[in-house]
Parts: sequence; structure tokens; C-alpha cells
Amino acid sequence: MRLFWKLYLTYLLTVALCAVAVGWFAISSAGTLYHNQAEQDLLSRAQLIEQQIGGLIGIVKLDQLQTDVHNLGWSSGTRITVIAGPGLSGYVEGKVLADSEVPASTLENHAGRPEVATALLGGVGKAIRNSATLKEDMLYVALPVSGSDGTVIGVIRTALPLTMVNHSLNSLLRRIVLAAVILAVLVAAVGLIVSRRIARHMNDIKRGAERFAAGDFSHEVHVSSSDDIGSVAASLNRMGRQLDDTIKAITQQRNEREAILSGMVEGVVAVDDAERLITINRAAAALLGVTQDQAEGRAIQQVVRNPELQQFVVAALAADTPIEGDLTFHVGADSRSIQAHGSRLIGADGAGLGAVVVLNDITRLRRFETVRRDFVANVSHEIKTPVTSIKGFAETLLDGALDDRADAERFLRIIAGQADRLSAIVEDLLALSVLEREPGSDGGIVMERGSVCDVLQVAAEVCQPKAEARSITLVPSCPAEVFLDINPPLLEQAVVNLIDNAIKYSPEGSSVEIGAEQDGDTVVISVIDHGIGIAREHLPRLFERFYRVDKARSRDMGGTGLGLAIVKHVAASHGGSVAVESTLGVGSTFRIVLPA
Ligand code: ADP
Repeated sequence: MRLFWKLYLTYLLTVALCAVAVGWFAISSAGTLYHNQAEQDLLSRAQLIEQQIGGLIGIVKLDQLQTDVHNLGWSSGTRITVIAGPGLSGYVEGKVLADSEVPASTLENHAGRPEVATALLGGVGKAIRNSATLKEDMLYVALPVSGSDGTVIGVIRTALPLTMVNHSLNSLLRRIVLAAVILAVLVAAVGLIVSRRIARHMNDIKRGAERFAAGDFSHEVHVSSSDDIGSVAASLNRMGRQLDDTIKAITQQRNEREAILSGMVEGVVAVDDAERLITINRAAAALLGVTQDQAEGRAIQQVVRNPELQQFVVAALAADTPIEGDLTFHVGADSRSIQAHGSRLIGADGAGLGAVVVLNDITRLRRFETVRRDFVANVSHEIKTPVTSIKGFAETLLDGALDDRADAERFLRIIAGQADRLSAIVEDLLALSVLEREPGSDGGIVMERGSVCDVLQVAAEVCQPKAEARSITLVPSCPAEVFLDINPPLLEQAVVNLIDNAIKYSPEGSSVEIGAEQDGDTVVISVIDHGIGIAREHLPRLFERFYRVDKARSRDMGGTGLGLAIVKHVAASHGGSVAVESTLGVGSTFRIVLPA
């Protein structure tokens, strides 16, 4: 049931009960009052009449008495009956001597009427009764008339029809009821307004509370009353503001935490004691190949397919101290090395909340380590061969080979050749280490505006003797001057390496074309030969250090396996790249692509 109806119906019921109670009391009081007054009035009349007629009883004749009674009755508007008392000689007690309305002779003995009986005994008799004579409700008052000896010689009885009394009473009643109805309607109207007002205010408060519950704090509850309802609304608004502030503070804290976590390079995964994900940051989501939204709130086993990580999380939840471990993740085709740190989350009350795991992607680090290890192994291996050879021939010489001049000369030549090789390797390694320094840093590469065509020209001249030795024609072509920010000696070294390879891996009598041209916003330096070419499977690794297609042949040619690695680094230090196209038995095209 709605509040309005509860209030209003209770109010109406109370008003109706009050109206009925007050009306009933008023009506019954008025009735009693009227009857008493009528009785009093009748008694006064009876006393007046007794004074006028009392003296006539037993003195005048009955006819005379009848006439006087009739006249008096008519003028006073009262029925008057005179009845013989015990002290009146010649008449039976109770005999009607005269009556103002009907002939006395027609009336029976009245001694039995209650009011008359009382008066006959000397008292004042009163009664309300239906008159046997007049057939209507009458109010009777009877007074005794005493004779000179003190005996009751007669009774004067006055009567008034009750209809008259009732008529006045009824009109009063009607007015009381009318007043009560009007009052009730007025009070009901006021009740309606008041109930409505209260119900409306309560409704406003209810709607406000519902809005707050739904998280909308933009509207306050407006109740313009200074009573309890107004203070409830004010309290509600105060509570709303505090809630709003608290929620804003919590939201801000969460956003800050989120921003910090998102900004972290490391992956962060937090789980509760039931191994459900509480938080997973962007880096971790990317590592695990999931989205943050679909991961949070779910069990780690559902989100993370990696059994190593699952076990690590379980271990972190069980451990008292932080733990560390190396995990391997498979993202698509490649695998990533992850260093994980896990520790238990302890709440302010000392109870365990779960565990947090920080994932560090150390794949690059591991790769660097591998490259470094391989590099050291390669360098050692490359150096070992010439060193062993030098050592061997030197010992042979010391052991007596010096005596044979022809042998000694041959061995010394081999030693000199191996020393050249060592020197070439060391020079190439030095060149690489210079290239690996940051551009512009101390000892790093310095750029200057220079002509690419000049560089090609110098490189071709440097290689000319080698080319001539193998009857190979170098064909430089530079259609237009191209100026770039370059380090000329380095670029020259790179081009020399390419021309050198082209000469080494081409048959005698062939040609090598060297060119440079601008192509959009790049400058492409190309070295094209018509030599042995390179099988397709070697192309992707060709620019790695110490990578060779044919080790023996390369060594025979005096190669170190570092030439193309140097070319690649020179291109990179100029902000460019390298490319190769080759067909086995047809020839190769090497390109250095530089930004214009
Ligand atoms: P190397 O000192 O052995 O020449 P590079 O790094 O210069 O080392 O070259 C690596 C390998 O690439 C060589 O061993 C050779 O097998 C191959 N190569 C380089 N240039 C050519 C070319 N123009 N034609 C055929 N093979 C080539």
C-alpha cells in the first residue's frame, strides 16, 4: 500500500471516529437537555395552573371547572387534566374531573397512571408515555392539590406532546450533523493536502536514495521543509556527498594504480588466495596473449595456458619469502625467456590476500648473451687456425728446417701469410667495434656532407689492382652527383668490401658494375657481379659475422667472414640498410640503401 493512502486513510478514519464520537455526545447531551427543559417548563406551567385552578376543586361545579380548564388549556397550549384526590369527598380517587381536550366523562379512572399515582401520594409525578387518549407520545407532569386539612384533594396534570420537543431536537440534530459533516470535509481536505505533501517528500527522498544507489550523485534531494523529513533529506544529501567523495578518491587511486601498472615494461599479475586474477597489466596481458578485461576475475588456470607460470603462481602463494624463477613463454611461433619474481600479498591486518608475480622479458638479453658467446667462440676459432699454423711452422724451423734454405723460405712465407690473415681479422674486428659505438659519441662516427660518387670512385681505384690481377673490368657509373651526410672513409670501406667480394667470387674476364642513384627519398649504391652467385638458403644469414657460404674457399681467398657484417654496420650507422639478390651461377647484386 502506498504511503499516501496509509497516511490518508488512517487520518480519515481518525477524523470519522472523532466526528461520530463528538456528534453522538453532542446529540445525547442536547436530547437530555431538551427533555429536562421541557419537563421544567411543564412543571412551571403546572404550578401556574395549580394556582389558578387548585382553589376551584371541590368549590365550583364540574361544568364550570371544565370550562375554566378548557380555556386555560387553550390559552397555554397545554393539555390540562384535573383528577380527584383522596381528600375530595364525593368522588372516587383518580376520577377525572375535567380535561382541556376531551370530555372528562369519557375518560377512565386515572389513579393508575404513574405520574398521577405519585401526585396522589403528595409528590411531583413525571412520565413520558403514549397517551391512550391522544395516541401520541406525551410528557406528563402531575402536581398534588392540598385541601385546607392538608389532604390531597386533587391532582393537576399537564401534558405536552413530545413531538414538539422532538421537532426542536431534530432541527438541532440536523444542524449538529451538518456542522460535523462540513468540519469532516474540511479536515479531510486539509488531511489530503498534508498527506500528499508528506508522501511527495518521502517519494523525493526515495528517488534520491535510488539515484545514489545507482551511483548518480549529480542531483541532490530537494525537500523544502524544516521538519524531520527535511533533516532526513539533508542527512541523505550529506551521505551522498561523502559517498561521492569516497568513490572519487577510490576511482582516482585505482586510475593512478592502473596508470602505473600500464606504464610498467614488466608484466604484473596479481591473484587472490583462490588463484583468481585480481590484476593483470598491459605488458602481462600482451605476454600471455589475453586481454585485460576478459582475464580479470577468472581463475589463473583458465586464463594462462602456460603450466610453468601456473606452477610458479601456486609456489608464490605457498612461499613465505619472495621467489624467483626462469620461465619460457611461447607467443605464436617464437618463444620468450621470462624471469619471474613472485611474492605473497599481505594485507594491513597481516592476513594473506594472494600473490603478485612480476614478469621480466629477458629474451633480448638472452639473445645478446648467445650472440656474444657465439662471437667469442667464432673469434677464438678464427684466430686459432692461423696461430696454430704460425706456431707449427716456427717450431719446425727451430727444429732444424732453417738449414734447408728453400724449405725455410717456404715456411716463412706461410707464417707471413698467416700473420696477414691474423692482422686482417684483427683489423676487421677493430672496424666493427668502432662501428658499434653510438654515432656522435666519444670515439664514434662523425658525419659530414660528402659526394657519394667520389666515394665510389676512390673505392674502385683501391680495388683496381686486384681486378686487373684477375682481368676483371670495374664499371663505375654515377649519372648525377649525389651529396649526403656520410662518413666517407667508412662508406668507402663498405663499398671496397662489396667490390672485393665481387672480384673474389667472379670468374676471370668478367665485369663488376658499381653505381649510385637517387630513388625517391633514398640513395641506392649497388655492386653487381656476374660470378658464382649465392644459394637462396644462405641469403638471410649472409650479413652475420663469420658467416660464409664456402668456408675453405673464403679462407683461400683471404676472407675473414666479417666483410659483409662491416657493410651492414656501416649502412646502419648511416641510418640505412643493406639488401642482396643473387642467383646461383648467374651473379649477385648487393645494395646499400641510404636515406637521402
Ligand atoms: P668473406 O671475407 O668470406 O668474403 P664476407 O662477409 O665478405 O666474408 O662474405 C660472406 C660470404 O658471402 C662469403 O664467404 C661468400 O661465400 C659469400 N659472398 C659474398 N659476396 C659474394 C659474391 N659477390 N658472390 C658470391 N658469394 C659471395
